[in-house]
Amino acid sequence: MAFKGSYAGVGTVSFRDMLLKEQILRAIGDAGFEHPSEVQQNAIPFAMVGQDMIVQAKSGMGKTAVFVIATLQQIEVDPDDDGVDTLILCHSREMAFQVHKEVERLGKYVTDVNSACVFGGISVTEQKAMIEKQTPHILVGTPGRVLHFIKNRVVKIDGLKRLVLDECDDMLQGSEMRRQIQDIFKEAPKEKQVMMCSATIGARAKGICRQISQNAEEIFLDDNKLTLHGLQQHYVEIEEKDKIKKLNDLLDTLDFNQVIVFVRSTERASALDKVLQKAFFPSIALHGRLSQEERLERYRKFKEYESRILVATDLCGRGVDMERVNIVINFDMPKTSDKYLHRVGRAGRFGTKGLAVTFVCGEENKTTLQEIQDRFEMKITPLPTAITASSYKN
Ligand code: AMP
Repeated sequence: MAFKGSYAGVGTVSFRDMLLKEQILRAIGDAGFEHPSEVQQNAIPFAMVGQDMIVQAKSGMGKTAVFVIATLQQIEVDPDDDGVDTLILCHSREMAFQVHKEVERLGKYVTDVNSACVFGGISVTEQKAMIEKQTPHILVGTPGRVLHFIKNRVVKIDGLKRLVLDECDDMLQGSEMRRQIQDIFKEAPKEKQVMMCSATIGARAKGICRQISQNAEEIFLDDNKLTLHGLQQHYVEIEEKDKIKKLNDLLDTLDFNQVIVFVRSTERASALDKVLQKAFFPSIALHGRLSQEERLERYRKFKEYESRILVATDLCGRGVDMERVNIVINFDMPKTSDKYLHRVGRAGRFGTKGLAVTFVCGEENKTTLQEIQDRFEMKITPLPTAITASSYKN
């Protein structure tokens, strides 16, 4: 049975039915994608013919592939033009890195198309040299660094054909990023395809998305009822002093491939990571106060399974695709229901099974839990004393 928001709209449309270029189909096959997900079935046919897009679909359902495939399908390389064809803007450095990997993976047989990735925290001189060498047709990056290169004419977007905003609501919410994006829009030609996507697009972000696009095809899947199929969600009422012991118990008893433990601050991430390492758990911490090199190195380590427990702040809460994560623990309650959704969406990617456990400490946390339940109409139940591993592990 196909359920809304599933990846398995089985049998209705195949990637081949979409009449994609042979090189893209081959790469899709290599990536192991058998069927297009619901969002892919709905969005790719519009996006691949140049339509502006506003796409909301839950986490982990293959939104990245929508705009990457649409771009690779349309791109036409002019050897005499050293400008950028498609600009993909991401809200965090890790996301830029990850999206670029997807461009490389799905574009590996489209050999005349070059791509590159730029973001802050890494030497501007190095990246400038890399861009001059690569002359990318597809550039993925964070808005600040991309704008810097546009202003310095290292990156030319006078002939830009496509502009993508990934996790658009987040990027358009913060005033600094919004300003940077506005500046990038000013430098780009008026006629271009604009594609925007996120797991959550609130009314305000939707308004801005409409302003910066033209007759966009709007695809909103599960807008009001954001549930993550396959994800079991529980909470534990607990006092602050008992959290570490409870976490210890959970890590000892639950059967995890990889787990992300979310905390509310950088300091708490470092401190909890140390506690776990002292207790011989294979843990690593990821937060915004590390150097860029260190951040990427730790991200890579976790993604490549060299470490199985990640203690993170909300920096890792969005979009980041760690396919082996089957458990998310909210050691500290997220501030908002949106943040909750993004965090727990790290487990149970692409319809796989997963488990989310949230520590609820005090009245304020209880109110947030209630808001989450109301907003997403999802059932978050008290953590049972025993859970069978087969219910949250594929
Ligand atoms: P995303 O929502 O873009 O972060 O994608 C989540 C994960 O699903 C990524 O690891 C993708 O490689 C994977 N994925 C995307 N599309 C498909 C598909 N049609 N079949 C199987 N896996 C997919």
